[in-house]
Amino acid sequence: MQATPTLIGLDLGEIEALIGADQPKFRARQVYDAVYRRRIGKIDGITDLPKPLRERLRGEMALGLPEIERFYDSSDGTRRYLLKLADGKTVETVWMPEGERATVCISTQVGCPVNCGFCLTALMGLERNLTAGEIAGQVLRAASDRGFTPNVDRLNIVMMGQGEPLLNLANVLKAARLLTDPKGMAISPRRITVSTSGIIPKIEELGRAPDESRPKLAISLNASTEEQRRELMPITRKYHLKDLIDACKAYPLRAWEKLTFEYVLLRDVNDSDADARRVAKLLANLNAKVNVIALNPGPGISFETPDAARVASFQAIVRRSLPCFIRKPRGLDVYAACGQLKRMEIVPIAEILTSGLPTSNPS
Ligand code: SAH
Ligand code: SF4
Repeated sequence: MQATPTLIGLDLGEIEALIGADQPKFRARQVYDAVYRRRIGKIDGITDLPKPLRERLRGEMALGLPEIERFYDSSDGTRRYLLKLADGKTVETVWMPEGERATVCISTQVGCPVNCGFCLTALMGLERNLTAGEIAGQVLRAASDRGFTPNVDRLNIVMMGQGEPLLNLANVLKAARLLTDPKGMAISPRRITVSTSGIIPKIEELGRAPDESRPKLAISLNASTEEQRRELMPITRKYHLKDLIDACKAYPLRAWEKLTFEYVLLRDVNDSDADARRVAKLLANLNAKVNVIALNPGPGISFETPDAARVASFQAIVRRSLPCFIRKPRGLDVYAACGQLKRMEIVPIAEILTSGLPTSNPS
């Protein structure tokens, strides 16, 4: 399908160029304001534009928020969206309410090329990078569906959905500029986190991004030795664990900021007390905290989930050296939790009740 050009994703300069020099300069600001601050979902809704200009824009392009193709509601309140992009491809976004607040987990690529052994998204391979508009657009679409005003209600954004954000860094950084612009969506960079499997040169490049729009950094560690990490995360063959830790030491944290390390616990693979001690030692000199995640299972993943006592023991050991939290899985029952995003189809119980379970024996 040929992609229609979209307004979402354009910055002010690009909107000025689009509108053209024959229009007064404030027109571009009006359009920018309508898309990002007032979050008008359609070009037709930008009624403060003169009609001929509005019609010209509408003829040339769409506003372009990703469309909700389907969503899946978890018993814990989490909603997983399957969003349709302008070229017909689909990608996932996860909305996780927490009382008055919420966290939205957005994708940065369709699929992922990194091939970690415990992650369902890896089984998709990479289909393509998302554009800046498609990245920021997920936030706008989900927030409007949930009746949230991103900069007023407390919304956290994590770039932890499908994809490896640092393999699409230019678009991730442009999306971050749009999300944080005080004249637009105005979300604080303190509330945006980007998670990486450890693409070292891109970590350095991220560190050079302007403080006012740079998201916080989380690193998926997932192993306590080089050998173990190579097994679980083949990217380690290119970017060694030691160099990754060195890049983290050199990373320019802001005064208020800590690094986050994520660690997926795989039963009898990387979850021993000795692993916990090695993790604590590896990270001892960093200004960091650790989030442990017990494996979220899925078809095609050969690892198992450790029991709660093992997870607690691991946490207790790491905690002697640095803050360590257990990340509660959200949306596990609808394939919305970390590492489960692979456009999994789920038949809602209501449909089963009305049309019956699909049967393998039609007679
Ligand atoms: N590609 C980026 C961000 C997306 S993955 C990255 O790898 O960091 C988001 C997080 O989910 C990562 O910390 C990853 O280690 C974790 N994860 C992947 N598969 C998982 C699974 N099956 N169970 C629990 N966490 C998983
Ligand atoms: Fe990609 Fe992250 Fe999954 Fe690894 S864990 S395959 S980097 S999405």
